[in-house]
Amino acid sequence: MKLFDVYSLLPIEPVRALGSKIWDANGQEYLDLYGGHAVISVGHSHPKYNAAIQDQLNKISFYSNSVQNKLQEELAEKLGALSGYNDYSLFLCNSGAEANENALKLASFITGKRRIIAMKKAFHGRTSGAVAATDNPKIIAPFNAGHEIIFVPMNDASALDAALDDQVAAILIEGIQGVAGIFEPQPEYLQHLEKRCQERGVILILDEVQSGYGRTGKFFAHQHAGIRPHLIATAKGMGNGFPIGGVLIHPDLKPWSGMLGTTFGGNHLACAAGIAVLDIIKEERLMENAETIGALLIEKITSILQAPVRGKGLMIGFDTPEHHLQLRTNLISKHRIFTGEAKPAIIRLLPSLALSKQDAELFLSALDQEIHQNATA
Ligand code: PMP
Repeated sequence: MKLFDVYSLLPIEPVRALGSKIWDANGQEYLDLYGGHAVISVGHSHPKYNAAIQDQLNKISFYSNSVQNKLQEELAEKLGALSGYNDYSLFLCNSGAEANENALKLASFITGKRRIIAMKKAFHGRTSGAVAATDNPKIIAPFNAGHEIIFVPMNDASALDAALDDQVAAILIEGIQGVAGIFEPQPEYLQHLEKRCQERGVILILDEVQSGYGRTGKFFAHQHAGIRPHLIATAKGMGNGFPIGGVLIHPDLKPWSGMLGTTFGGNHLACAAGIAVLDIIKEERLMENAETIGALLIEKITSILQAPVRGKGLMIGFDTPEHHLQLRTNLISKHRIFTGEAKPAIIRLLPSLALSKQDAELFLSALDQEIHQNATA
């Protein structure tokens, strides 16, 4: 059987990884500033993380949600404490798309309405509702097109007000737009959304799948704006590579038996991974590290490129300079540094939150060399 060919692959196969480094079968080392798409939060193969999963594997790895599972409670408690959302409750699932899908479903159950306002350029995942709320017609099948979604330009308060009528169940917005190329909602815009949602009985959903889990220096990116949404979707960094996602749910939104459900969500291994991630973020002060190393990177990249750099903490994006269109390829092939991209020509940095100053400087010196010595196109 062949693989269903839907991905364009880099010509590299990592076989081993540690911290912010990965190695291929020939022993070639790479610096990983992409983190497998913002997933590697505490670093590859962190010993404490590996031990927690191994230990759990030897006890019990899975049982369905029809039994008690104290690990889920421990995870929820630790997530509440570290994120500042102690009073919220947690629904566990397996991925970012599922987290958004469940958040949308919850908003619709609670309000009895079906219309959703989403942002232009947004990405929310590939399940039915999440992909319908993703502003990319190429990945929306006719089957997904039945949802009532209105796209508005981000940071335009009057466009939002014009779209907001009494049919709207929820407004869905990323903490920072990731797939689009790292674009931030302005704090005043998020505050406006929060105010309008409160006035109109609309549910505010923050998709923190990419921007959450400490990446921007606060636990969730929206916390820079001082707002408290009704629902927060999380995944990626939550399991440092072990598939796990979740929805943080405001205390006013009440569950009923059978309202949501999943077979795999919140399984023992996923919880062990998730608990280890939270413990490591706290013990190693990784949010502070993301803030410090991120600020250093943003300042230095701006000065090398003499152009604006977007983002916060270790969620960074910049446009590939005009005469350096091979920059990302050169960083991989010549300097052995992985970065992410966004179309058409944006470079994204989404490294582990534990990225060291030394590794950040390796990147900066490679970037400096490319920009000042090698005009390629
Ligand atoms: N929301 C955002 C903001 C994302 O960046 C992504 C993944 N790129 C998703 C949702 C979907 O997550 P997953 O691939 O885990 O379903």
